[in-house]
Amino acid sequence: MTNIINGKKIAEDLRNNLKNEILKLKNEFGSVPGLAVVQVGNVAASSVYVKAKTKSASEVGIKVFDHHLDDKASQNDLLTLIGDLNNNESVNGILVQLPLPKHISEQIVLDSINPNKDADGFHPLNVGKLSIASHNDENLLIPCTPYGCLLMLKTLNIELSGKKAVVVGRSNIVGKPMSQLLLKESCTVTIVHSKTKSIEKICKEADILIAAVGRPKMIKADWVKNGAIVIDVGINRVEISENGEIKTKLVGDVDFSEVEKNSFAISPVPGGVGPMTIACLLRNTTIAFKNSKNQ
Ligand code: NDP
Repeated sequence: MTNIINGKKIAEDLRNNLKNEILKLKNEFGSVPGLAVVQVGNVAASSVYVKAKTKSASEVGIKVFDHHLDDKASQNDLLTLIGDLNNNESVNGILVQLPLPKHISEQIVLDSINPNKDADGFHPLNVGKLSIASHNDENLLIPCTPYGCLLMLKTLNIELSGKKAVVVGRSNIVGKPMSQLLLKESCTVTIVHSKTKSIEKICKEADILIAAVGRPKMIKADWVKNGAIVIDVGINRVEISENGEIKTKLVGDVDFSEVEKNSFAISPVPGGVGPMTIACLLRNTTIAFKNSKNQ
C-alpha cells in the first residue's frame, strides 16, 4: 500500500520540537528568536502566505516584526528598511515575501539581507555554503521548501544513498537547492527542465522524483517507476465544475490519483510540502538565533 507522506503532521512535529527548543533558549539567553516579515504591495497570495508564516512563528514563540510597505514603495525604501533590520539585534531572521513589485529588483533586495539573518536561505553566500558543505551542517540556512522535502523523505526511513533522484524544475528557490541537498545525501541527481528532451523517460528512471514545475498534474502515472517515491512541490490553482458551479481547487504538479497507485510513497497537495516550507522557515530563524549566540 502506498505511503501518503503527511506533510501537515511532519510539520506539526517539527513546530512542536521548535517550540520546546525556543522555551529552552529563552531560559538560557533571556530572549527568543525574532523574525521580520516584509511584504510589499497587496498580492492576495502573498498576504495569505505572510499571514500563515506570522501565525506559525508566533505560535512557536518566535517574536514577529511585521512590515508591510505599499506597492508604491521604492527599492530604496525597502533597502533602508532591510538595513535597519540588519542592524536590529532583536531580529534574527528577515523574510522578504516574493514576488516583489516589478520596479524592485529581487536579487538586489535579497543580496542586501545580512546572510546571517537570511531566513529563506536565498542569499548568494548561503547558496554557496550549501553547495560546498560536504554534509547537511546543522548551522546552515537552507532554502525552506527543498529542506522540507528532504525532511519528508527522511521520515520514510529508507537509505537515500545511491538512489537515482530526478528533480523536475531548476528554480533557485526549489529545483537547484533540492538537487544540492539530494547530492549531499549521495543520491545520483538529474535535473530536468523545460528544454529537456525525453523528460518522461528520464523521470521513469527515478527512485525519487521531485516535481517543482508549476504545471497542474503534469507528471502522469506512466512517467513514474513502480515503487518510486514522489514529492510534489507544485501548488496550482485550477478551476473545476461542481454541481454546475465553477470552483477553484489546489492541485500539484503530479497527477496524484493515478500516480499514487504505483508509487511507494507520495506527498499530497495540499497537506504535503506547503506546511513543511513554513516549519522550515521557523527552523532557519531559530538556527540564525543560535548562530548569533555562538559568534
Ligand atoms: P519556477 O517557475 O521558478 O520554475 C519552474 C521550473 O519548471 C523551471 O525550471 C522550468 O524550466 C520548469 N518547467 C516549466 N515547464 C516545464 C515543462 N513543461 N517541462 C519541464 N520543466 C518545466 O517555479 P518554482 O520553482 O518557484 O515553483 C514550482 C512550483 O512549486 C510552483 O507550482 C510553485 O507554486 C510551487 N512552490 C511551492 C512551494 C511550497 O511551499 N509548496 C514553495 C515554492 C514553490 P525552465 O527553467 O527551463 O524555464
